[in-house]
Amino acid sequence: MFNKKLNADYIKRSLLPFDFYRHELPGATLKKHSWNDGGLCCFHADNKPGSFRVNLTTGAFKCFSCGIAGGDVIAFTMAVYGLEFVEALAKLADDWGLI
Ligand SMILES: [Zn+2]
Repeated sequence: MFNKKLNADYIKRSLLPFDFYRHELPGATLKKHSWNDGGLCCFHADNKPGSFRVNLTTGAFKCFSCGIAGGDVIAFTMAVYGLEFVEALAKLADDWGLI
């Protein structure tokens, strides 16, 4: 259910990109800040690590191989799960207990 208190700012304040990507990319070696090697890209048939990057400060992601990119964990959730914006907010809130 979409909650009125549930908005993008709240989600982004409450969910650290580090925690999010550590969960979504269990194979990646993630440090704490800025751009990190995200391991194999989850958006194309990747077999050569090194082109998929995630930013643990902002939540942005980018693949230099297939070209997919986004600015935060909400954009990542929309892209990887094929969700609309509001659906992605609801999924993040539900998965991370943010309601
Ligand atoms: Zn890719």
